[in-house]
Amino acid sequence: MTENNALRTGVSWAPAFGEKHRAPAAAFLPTTGVPEFLPDSAWDVGDRVLCLYDALQHVARTLPITQVADFAPADRNDLLRFHDETFVRAQLGAPGSEPGPLGAAGLLAVGAIRELTRRVWSRQLSNAYALVRPAGHHAEPGSPGGGCLFANGVLAAIEAKRLGARRVLFVDWDAHHGNSQQGAFWSDPSVLTVSVHQGRKFPALTGDVDARGEGAGFGANINVPVPPGSGGGVYREVFERIVEPAAALFRPDFVIVASGLDASYIDPSARLSLHSGDYEWMTSRMVATADRYAAGRLLMTHEGGYALGYLSLCFVRILEALTGERTGIDDPFLDRWGTDFAAAVSAEAEDVVARCAGFLRDVPHPAHQGVK
Ligand SMILES: [Zn+2]
Repeated sequence: MTENNALRTGVSWAPAFGEKHRAPAAAFLPTTGVPEFLPDSAWDVGDRVLCLYDALQHVARTLPITQVADFAPADRNDLLRFHDETFVRAQLGAPGSEPGPLGAAGLLAVGAIRELTRRVWSRQLSNAYALVRPAGHHAEPGSPGGGCLFANGVLAAIEAKRLGARRVLFVDWDAHHGNSQQGAFWSDPSVLTVSVHQGRKFPALTGDVDARGEGAGFGANINVPVPPGSGGGVYREVFERIVEPAAALFRPDFVIVASGLDASYIDPSARLSLHSGDYEWMTSRMVATADRYAAGRLLMTHEGGYALGYLSLCFVRILEALTGERTGIDDPFLDRWGTDFAAAVSAEAEDVVARCAGFLRDVPHPAHQGVK
C-alpha cells in the first residue's frame, strides 16, 4: 500500500452486483395499505448499480479513488455472526454446495464490505463507499426482504467491532426504515443506530419514533420517520438537531452510513424530495463527523435507489464529498429543485424532529458505558 492511498476513497465493485438476480421483495409487506406504485418485476434490476459503476469509471479519472475489486467473498461463518443457520442454508444450499447467482452475489457484497471495513479501520483508505447489490438494510437474522439478502451494514459494524471499534455510529438515509440494524443492536449501547426515512412506508410496521431500543441499548436507536414530501430543509434539521448532537454525545470511533439513493424527487419507491446537492451535503456532514470523532473512519454501504435517470448525479456528488474534490459535472435539475419547496419544513416534519431531538438525553456516551 503506497503512502498516497491514505488520501484516497475506496469504492468496491464486482460484476455480479449488476447481474440479473433479485433478492426477495415480499417479506415484511403488509397485507393492506401502503401503495408502492412500483412494479415488482422492474425495481431491483442490475441497471440500478451498473449506472453507478459507469459513473464511477468516468469520475475515477479525476477524483482520488481506489477501485477495490481484489476481495474474497464472505463465507458462511461470516454470515452466522448475524443470520440464522437455517436462513443461510436456505439462501446458499447445504455446506459445500455451490450457491446460486443471488447467493453468490450476496457473499461478494458482504466480502466487499468486510474488505473496505478493514482498509478504512487500518487507515489504508481515507473512507470508502461499498457499491454493492443486493442491498442489506432490510435483512433480518432469519429472512431477506425489500430487495435485501444479507445484512451488509450490520456485518460491517460487527467486523469493525472485531477490529477494535468500541462505538459505532450507524446512520441510514435510505428512504425506507433500516430495520436490519435496529434489530441487530436493539439492546447494544455500543452501536448507535439512526434511521431517517419516510414514515410508515417500508417496512410498514417498523420505524416509528417510539422504537428506541431496550435494556442497556435504550436510547441507542433513533428513528426519524419524516412525512412524504420532505426535502433538504427537513434533512438539514434532522442532521443539525439529531444526528450531529447524537454523534457529539456518543463519540463514535467508526461511522457507517447506509446510503440509499431512493429519497430523491423522482424515485418511484418513495415520496421524498432530495436532490443531488442534498446527498453531497449529507455526505460532507458525515465526513466531518467521522473526522471529528473517528479519525475519519467512514464506510458507506449502498442500499436502495431506483430512479435510473438520476442516481448517477447523486452518486457523483457523494464521491465528490468523500474525496473533497470536484468533477465539474453539473446537475441540470438543481435550478428547479433547489427551491423554497425543497427547503420547507412542514409542521408535521417539525413535530417529528422536535420529538426525536428530545431523545438525545438518552443517547449512551462513553461516560455511561465506562471503559471497555
Ligand atoms: Zn430503500
